Amino acid sequence: MSIKLPAAMEVNQERLVSLFLELINIDSPSGFERAIADVLKNKLEERGFQVREDDAAVKLARESPAKRLPKGTAGNLIATRKGTTDAPHLLFMAHMDTVVSNKGVHAIREHGVIKTDEKTILGADDKAGIAGILEAFSIVQEKNLPHGDVTVVFSICEELGLYGAKYLDVESLHVDFGYVLDSGGPPEKVIGAAPYEVDYRITVHGKAAHSGVNPEDGINALAAACSAVSQIKQGRMDEHSTRNIGVFRAGETTNTVCDRAHLEGEARSLDKKEVDALVAEVRQAFERACSTFHATFEMEVEEAYSGFQLAENDDVVKHAFKALKTMGLTPELAERGGGSDTNVLNGRGIPAVNLGVGASRDHTVYESVHEAHLVAAAQMVCAILASVLDAE
Ligand SMILES: [Zn+2]
Repeated sequence: MSIKLPAAMEVNQERLVSLFLELINIDSPSGFERAIADVLKNKLEERGFQVREDDAAVKLARESPAKRLPKGTAGNLIATRKGTTDAPHLLFMAHMDTVVSNKGVHAIREHGVIKTDEKTILGADDKAGIAGILEAFSIVQEKNLPHGDVTVVFSICEELGLYGAKYLDVESLHVDFGYVLDSGGPPEKVIGAAPYEVDYRITVHGKAAHSGVNPEDGINALAAACSAVSQIKQGRMDEHSTRNIGVFRAGETTNTVCDRAHLEGEARSLDKKEVDALVAEVRQAFERACSTFHATFEMEVEEAYSGFQLAENDDVVKHAFKALKTMGLTPELAERGGGSDTNVLNGRGIPAVNLGVGASRDHTVYESVHEAHLVAAAQMVCAILASVLDAE
């Protein structure tokens, strides 16, 4: 990757890599972000930020019993650095939690790539994003680079379902637009679209009876549920939509007509109407099957997060593109099938894109990151700060 940035934005690669290694060595699975939050609070303060922690942990504890979530040990960190110009107020965001623990991580640095011994995940998702943001502000401080007001948010529990972002008082941040550094792809891929996700939980009620003595008195909930599922198309529905049923639990014993089946699934689409239609079809399939089997069912539907779709002429995209071009890269606006904190920001009225920080095969023990991508993440932040200086 050849990068042609002004000398003022030159990243100290050794400093950045050692910061990244320090961060991945602090274990922080979702709900257990206390230790990393304390370290990051200091690092932000050292870089001239005023830092506060919100009450996301309290909100998580309130919701944890019903949703079987951890109680939470830390809130989101919200850090602000006063601007030296009146350029737009930018938000940079990354999440502190990792999908699972990486306790005892053994990082191997080889040929410009950082990986593990394949016994734990690396944790580049999303500590690559955090390290990139922090290195950028080391440079800002060192070189006294001009910038507008900046807010940095390090969120909790992204991997469990974007809970930190959902609990964040987004409106109180007063930012103009935002950059989330949390996409696995290369830096030139700017994620400007991601789907809505709607989750559903269905319970089918039948009637228990002895399977050998009086099966005709029973209503088989399992059979009704199977019949419904067999009528529901799953997988990729069209270019921008998917549907899945991923949980099916039923029955205790072989000699009882099964009286209860429980299913959970989701639908995703860039189009809100389409995602609602996909969920409505699921409901209709259960209505038909349950009426045939004389069973009943209940269905709980919940929007997991809203989708977004930005265009090249949106300011948030324009500045990402301009920044990437100053780095000698060819930016590309892309779509991603998964949700991220970016969905929540857009859903709450803050235009935001997700930037690639290069973690590959994340959520597995084969996760790795190119040092060049870590460097690019820090440069992107610097280059975006510079890009908005001459925003009209
Ligand atoms: Zn992530």
